Amino acid sequence: MQRIVVLAGGIGGARFLRGLRQAAPDAEITVIGNTGDDIHLFGLKVCPDLDTVMYTLGGGIHEEQGWGRADETFTVKEELAAYGVGPAWFGLGDRDFATHIVRTQMISAGYPLSAVTEALCQRWQPGVRLLPMTDDRVETHVLVDDPDAAADPGRGDAGDGAGGRRAVHFQEYWVRLRAAVDAHAVVPIGADQAKPAPGVLEALAAADTVLFPPSNPVVSIGTILAVPGIREAIADADVPVVGLSPIVGGAPVRGMADKMLAAIGVETTAQAVARHYGSGLLDGWLVDTADADAVPDVEAAGIRCRAVPLMMSGPDATALMAAEALTLAEEVRA
Ligand code: GDP
Ligand code: CA
Repeated sequence: MQRIVVLAGGIGGARFLRGLRQAAPDAEITVIGNTGDDIHLFGLKVCPDLDTVMYTLGGGIHEEQGWGRADETFTVKEELAAYGVGPAWFGLGDRDFATHIVRTQMISAGYPLSAVTEALCQRWQPGVRLLPMTDDRVETHVLVDDPDAAADPGRGDAGDGAGGRRAVHFQEYWVRLRAAVDAHAVVPIGADQAKPAPGVLEALAAADTVLFPPSNPVVSIGTILAVPGIREAIADADVPVVGLSPIVGGAPVRGMADKMLAAIGVETTAQAVARHYGSGLLDGWLVDTADADAVPDVEAAGIRCRAVPLMMSGPDATALMAAEALTLAEEVRA
């Protein structure tokens, strides 16, 4: 049986995984999920990327939105707002709240996040083994020009930069500020002290193939790779590592990967992202047919590259993408 390990963020990772399950129904798939987006709200621990994977593969996702539960209601959120208790900018629905209550209760009882995730997956049966990248707390922060400095001129120092900058939680950057301001730096706080969760290094050591889905290269896959031991385990593994570009035609398909790439000095192109990972990590890279002219550039960096359709427009198109990734993996293995 083929053992596949996938590093995943939220929507891009989750949708790809659904295609992979269809393309390789007999494979044993282990997902290493990003937890840098995790946030504590209303006393609850929220894990947006793990939940997006769990709900998507378990059939509970809000399909059009790509995150959160289908058939959701927002009574609790409205009641909290009536008490003046925020933040109002983070949309937690009633069904979703239950997940975070169960998670927080188990963590308070002493269970590590990996055990909690396994317990939540008992209900959702995602058909993959879902592991958080770490049981330790990691929080991605984004350095921005103080978004509130204009309203309070005394606080900021818009004139010469540094004084007017502020680090905000990634969720605040993305959800409250809608990534409308430039990011100067992205810092996965706590990552350097974090240990891979139980099962992560074991899964990588036993893998036949490692895949990077079209997830955010900075705040999803980059954060997972920032946990000491994970990048090394992938680089040292003697198995094909194949990625799919989240950048198509010089732009993210959705989300703010362009802003995050700019913050780390990487161009928003399919080839620049491949070069950023580098041949030390990647053996193969798929770009969209719209980026076919990027193939020679990627191959010049020592990474086998093919141009195939990379739009996850539906389950079948996504399964074909996954099949292409597995084909490229076999090609580099040979
Ligand atoms: P997030 O945590 O919800 O942001 O999700 P991920 O990190 O897993 O994925 C976000 C990335 O997926 C973004 O950079 C998007 O450009 C990319 N993405 C989303 N849909 C598609 C698609 O259909 N095709 C490709 N190639 N990339 C996609
Ligand atoms: Ca995410």
